[in-house]
Amino acid sequence: MTQTYTGRFAPSPTGPLHMGSLVAAMASYLDAKAHDGLWLLRMEDLDFDRNVKGAGQHIIHSLQRCGMVWDRDITWQSQRQHLYEAAMQELGEHLYPCACSRKEIADSRLRLGEASSQIYPGTCRHGLTAGKIARAWRLRVPDQNYTFEDRLAGTQQQNLATEVGDFVLKRADGFWAYQLAVVVDDAAQGITHVVRGADLIDSTARQIYLQELLGLPTPSYLHVPVVTNADGEKLSKQTGALAFDQGDNDILHDALIPAARFLGLQLAESIGSQEEFWNKATLAWKNKLDYTEK
Ligand SMILES: [Zn+2]
Repeated sequence: MTQTYTGRFAPSPTGPLHMGSLVAAMASYLDAKAHDGLWLLRMEDLDFDRNVKGAGQHIIHSLQRCGMVWDRDITWQSQRQHLYEAAMQELGEHLYPCACSRKEIADSRLRLGEASSQIYPGTCRHGLTAGKIARAWRLRVPDQNYTFEDRLAGTQQQNLATEVGDFVLKRADGFWAYQLAVVVDDAAQGITHVVRGADLIDSTARQIYLQELLGLPTPSYLHVPVVTNADGEKLSKQTGALAFDQGDNDILHDALIPAARFLGLQLAESIGSQEEFWNKATLAWKNKLDYTEK
């Protein structure tokens, strides 16, 4: 059988797998299973300041305990930096060096009378001011709407110039931006379907623009709701997300079934084994797809 579907789960090893990341892993896994596709595991370990020693292995172990099996070898982005460098070379003139500090960007937005200090005002677009040293490489974005179909959320649209601004692809200290690495790796790994948390829906237009510049295919996208804490914040190490895989936790009833229910899958508490869980959850996901893909 030819593989027409390749999906992936791409966690950052900044802490253990928690309920929020398990939900994202499960959604991508079920979608791959429902399509008889491949499911790959990619460690997005490029943020060397935030990486936590041993967290990658911890995540791998937790996925195994959950009964999730990946196809192909695990890829680690830290070992693929030559690919990101090659993509930067290819982007050539679309990139320019930027010398602005975070504070300078915020100040110049204030001077322009604009409240949103997040959008880069284009200070270095036409060259660095004499004596300034480049801190980062930015990508020039067009004043153009990018539209894509999210399989769950429907049609999405974003104007890169007015809603995002020229964005950083590489920091002067050598850190690669998530946007570049994810686009390069999705293409290199032949990813056809991206299923991930809704916190990344806002990145999608940037990634589609990069795919266009690099002549890479655009996968299909599905963003699932993000698990939040009582204050409505996305679960993360900072907001006190606990690893579900600790001590003698009952993975099936304490993690898998609650995560599936969060994804809107109706599963009976009486499920007795992980094997039964994955079979029933895949079926339930298929039924949900029939509904959402109409
Ligand atoms: Zn600048």
